[in-house]
Amino acid sequence: MLETMVDGKVANAITDNNSAATCNICGTKPSAMKELDKIVSQPCNEEFYSYGLSTLHCRIRFMENLLKISYRIPIYEGQTQPKPRYSDQEKQKIQEKKDEIHNKLRKELNITVDVVKQGFGTTNDGNTSRMFFRNPEKTASIIGLNQELVERYSNILQVITSGHPIDSEKFGKYARDTAALYVEKYPWWNMPATVHKVLMHGSEIIKFFDVPIGKLSEEALEAGNKVFRHTREFNARKTSRKDNLEDIIHHSLASSDPSITNYRVEYEREKYHLELSDKALELLEKFDI
Ligand SMILES: [Zn+2]
Repeated sequence: MLETMVDGKVANAITDNNSAATCNICGTKPSAMKELDKIVSQPCNEEFYSYGLSTLHCRIRFMENLLKISYRIPIYEGQTQPKPRYSDQEKQKIQEKKDEIHNKLRKELNITVDVVKQGFGTTNDGNTSRMFFRNPEKTASIIGLNQELVERYSNILQVITSGHPIDSEKFGKYARDTAALYVEKYPWWNMPATVHKVLMHGSEIIKFFDVPIGKLSEEALEAGNKVFRHTREFNARKTSRKDNLEDIIHHSLASSDPSITNYRVEYEREKYHLELSDKALELLEKFDI
């Protein structure tokens, strides 16, 4: 049994990681995230590899990382250190830049980001982040960040969510080079733990599993809510709560059985093939498309 359908929050709870900003694999704190050479030589809790990469939430976290940097560009021009706090004038500058970027994203990519929805977190979801990374060149020009970094983020996300076997050596090098580019361009914004985990530990986590990491995402669980409700209404007894849940679990086990899912027509996967960039394809193990 692989417990990979957990998001970052759950993984932190299971691994007794008290601070979500600290890496639960190597213990690196936010302020030390840019010391890449030191991180590489640090011992890792390899037993935590088994919780996977939470690839669906990765997309959202990667997008939020780039957005947070982009809002602060005007006040960090030429700086290398994070500021412990912002002056009122700086806060206003950040807000202005934020509004400008939100408007452009709405107009040009038709997405609404970082808006709080009452009781539902924010508008940042799988679809928003997919649109955000679809055309890295355009997105980079809208948010005013280094185009290569946005492109690399997009390629990495394509690879880890593709569901195809990944060449972990090539991926590891590409990811570490990406981390180096991040630190070079934006040393004043500490790399978030989710991004650090993919860039610095991704290749080891990918190597840990016998199946492609993209097949272990929590996407299936989130997408399964709809199926769950349908099964509960139409394929389960309603004679008692126990009977009802038992039937749902039986149905879920049967429909997720690998030999049964093999009969399913793969509409979604077809679409993903088309979305892979040349660089993303290069990072996969050879396979027939
Ligand atoms: Zn780490």
